[in-house]
Amino acid sequence: KKIIFSGIQPSGELTLGNYLGAIKNWVKLQEEYESYFCVVDLHAITVRQVPKDLRARTLQVLAIYLASGIDPEKATLFIQSHVPAHCEAQWLLNCSTYMGELSRMTQFKDKSQKAGESIPVGLFTYPVLMAADILLYNTDLVPVGKDQMQHLELSRDLAERFNNLYSPTFKVPDGYIPKEGAKIMNLQDPAKKMSKSDENANSYILIMDPPDVIRKKISRAVTDTVGEINYTDEQPGIKNLINIISAITGESPESIVEKYNGCGYAQLKSDVAEIIVKELQPIQAKVNEYLSDKAYLEEIYKKGADKANYAATKTLRKMQKKIGLIPR
Ligand code: ATP
Ligand code: MG
Repeated sequence: KKIIFSGIQPSGELTLGNYLGAIKNWVKLQEEYESYFCVVDLHAITVRQVPKDLRARTLQVLAIYLASGIDPEKATLFIQSHVPAHCEAQWLLNCSTYMGELSRMTQFKDKSQKAGESIPVGLFTYPVLMAADILLYNTDLVPVGKDQMQHLELSRDLAERFNNLYSPTFKVPDGYIPKEGAKIMNLQDPAKKMSKSDENANSYILIMDPPDVIRKKISRAVTDTVGEINYTDEQPGIKNLINIISAITGESPESIVEKYNGCGYAQLKSDVAEIIVKELQPIQAKVNEYLSDKAYLEEIYKKGADKANYAATKTLRKMQKKIGLIPR
């Protein structure tokens, strides 16, 4: 069986972008692949987190995975910090990663700008930890949104570099980018991607937003003055709404455009809102159920950590040996 690995940072409440760009696809892929789905808490702390919020959100992300249909009998669900091999492998990879290539990462440029004067080193080396996450599991495929493509390219480069420096050790993973949910845009600025760490709550839909909040946010979504529903880059706000429908229902953008021929934006918006509400409501109910059973969540992440530890440590030992570290 081929292997997939993916993760989400508990750096904020998860958005519709996280759901459509990542989780929704995992649910399908878990049937076919040996799957590792991680809550990447160590990535989240590259940006300052309030400890008690981080704890609560880490469990919430796990609950969202389960509520969305990830089956712990099929997939390994775990918390990144429970598998120390990730950090150890990161150090080993750090030593063959170049300052120049990390400086080129657009996420680093964006997030370091927001960090102001004092930029944490973790923000800079984040992509190396991500490479470690992926490579430790001999991952074939990494289902992520488009925004992670550059990091994934780096993971591939680091894998190839290590293989060339020593001997074949890592599989070179491919990205798996969904067609329509690949990049859900910011509702207030459709030139930017929707992000859970955005300061403006109107810019995103949260997976846990109540129906009325979803309706309000969609009705306020920025569109344009064209007044006609087309699927084009000239109308990024409308294109985004069409992409949301398409990613949820599976309908093609072309047939959605056809359906709304002659309709106004208000009609489209109210339909989008209802489609989102219908998709998220059952998930929300299940999330709350899972969160009320902490013992069950604990059982899942402990079992996941055991499985992940076993697989990751095996790869880590190989790396150590090839580099010339003495096994004990
Ligand atoms: P942050 O702002 O803290 O970086 P984020 O919303 O970008 O949060 P991540 O945890 O960085 O979320 O990413 C988790 C997964 O969600 C990744 O696979 C990423 O590609 C995907 N993703 C994030 N935002 C979007 C989006 N707007 N559209 C589609 N996929 C997305
Ligand atoms: Mg992100």
